Amino acid sequence: MPNRPTRRPASASPAYAPSRRRVLAAGAVLLAAPMLALPRRSLASTASARTLAFRHTHTGESLAITYASGDQYVSDALARVNWFLRDFRNGDVQPIDPQLLDQLHAVSTITGSRAPYEVISGYRSPATNVALKERGRGVATHSLHLEGRAIDVRLADVPLADLRDAAMSLRKGGVGFYAASRFVHLDTGRVRRW
Ligand SMILES: [Zn+2]
Repeated sequence: MPNRPTRRPASASPAYAPSRRRVLAAGAVLLAAPMLALPRRSLASTASARTLAFRHTHTGESLAITYASGDQYVSDALARVNWFLRDFRNGDVQPIDPQLLDQLHAVSTITGSRAPYEVISGYRSPATNVALKERGRGVATHSLHLEGRAIDVRLADVPLADLRDAAMSLRKGGVGFYAASRFVHLDTGRVRRW
């Protein structure tokens, strides 16, 4: 039979005191553990929550929304983004590629912008694309705007060239620079620039 430590009252001998302190110390660690874990957890969720703010230059609407948390997209939020980025000319709504939102989020982080994205164009319906083409607006026949995979934006607090450079540094999708119209086109197609 193994030796068992004899239980003694706390006041019994000085030798007991250190071990009691160890017990107390262990208890303090146990108590402290959840308190340490809480801020770490909330920091993690803050860091992984991805938020975007928009102002649409054609509809005048604004939207500020947490569209993702960690590796999960928030479906309600995506639905609101889809509506916000609808074809404003005829009201057609199509899903917007969530990766496009991630690219915008990354560009915000890189530039340190605190301004909402000013949206010039999001989803574009085939009818609108044809109409714009006929009016000689220089839109591509197979524009990724038609697939909800492109957006034209500017940021009030970031020079347009810096916005372009930040977008290109991602090495994700296409980046078009439209200095005269003051916007940058981003899409989730293959990496290219113009
Ligand atoms: Zn575009």
